[in-house]
Amino acid sequence: MGILGFFKKKENKENLDQGLEKTKTSILGRLGKAIVGKSRIDEDVLDDLEEILITSDVGVDTTIKIIDRIRSRVSKDKYTNPNELDFLLRDEIARMINENQGDAPDHFLLPPQQHDGKKVPHIIMVVGVNGVGKTTTIGKLAARYKEQGKKVLLGAGDTFRAAAVDQLRIWSQRVDVPMVDKGMNVKPSTVAFDAVKEGLAIDADVVIVDTAGRLQTKINLMNELSTIKQAMTKVLPDAPHEVLLVLDASTGQNAVQQARAFTAATKVTSLALTKLDGTAKGGVVIGICDEFKIPVKYIGVGEGIDHLQIFNAQEFVDSLFRKIEA
Ligand code: GDP
Ligand code: MG
Repeated sequence: MGILGFFKKKENKENLDQGLEKTKTSILGRLGKAIVGKSRIDEDVLDDLEEILITSDVGVDTTIKIIDRIRSRVSKDKYTNPNELDFLLRDEIARMINENQGDAPDHFLLPPQQHDGKKVPHIIMVVGVNGVGKTTTIGKLAARYKEQGKKVLLGAGDTFRAAAVDQLRIWSQRVDVPMVDKGMNVKPSTVAFDAVKEGLAIDADVVIVDTAGRLQTKINLMNELSTIKQAMTKVLPDAPHEVLLVLDASTGQNAVQQARAFTAATKVTSLALTKLDGTAKGGVVIGICDEFKIPVKYIGVGEGIDHLQIFNAQEFVDSLFRKIEA
């Protein structure tokens, strides 16, 4: 790692620490209070811990799993000192996330795609409800790929609101990457089709297609997403190679509901959790990893172009449990 890489890593760590500050206070701060004056980890302490995790948006089922595991370790391994609760919790949260994340590869590296023996662009379809941060995430991703010297193409597939197309256009200009822009009042599937076609024509490395996430009914959502996918398939049978679901972590359990709706409607292959900065609901990341078994690839820790990070389970847990400095 060069000196620039070192500073980048340091900056990422600081952004993550800052981003998780409220969640940290919500979990660790209260955990500290729960064990004050306690001489052993008893059911009272575990009850308090349960409440802390649930109100930090970890989710009921995941919380129960964590508490059960801790309870059995307390009785088996004789971890009875309340000061060890931090350690146990950290361990169990790390396990919960890691079980579903696998290794942490560099998600900013594009997987090579081929069709008929020829290299084709990696096609990403970005889904999620309005306002969660799809367009922003696309802009940030485009910037990362561009930085690596990759040829990026965007598709303005959220054609339901004029502002959505405008917003993606601003990002495309800012990052200096082309975009397929058909304006409004055209079907998202038309944009998706054209974007994949254009991506092939210009020999792009990656095509990122924005969509509108209207969560009316499950059937509507299913139809809408499958129409977009089918349009892509007409150009490239394997497309999209990736369906990235964007969720707003600051909405806590709402994000979980959205994940349920979208995973029921289409095959989601990766997740991005945005707006972790400034929310105390960061615990939702743990519940989402546990429930959906879909890798969380990215986390958003701010509005800036540099505020998209690869989600790394170890770094996340380290940051969550790093002592709050006075
Ligand atoms: P979309 O409707 O899903 O495309 O969402 P947008 O990309 O338009 O984002 C909605 C708002 O959330 C914008 O004001 C973004 O700047 C903001 N936003 C997106 N990601 C983040 C993040 O990680 N942190 C913060 N604080 N704001 C974000
Ligand atoms: Mg948008």
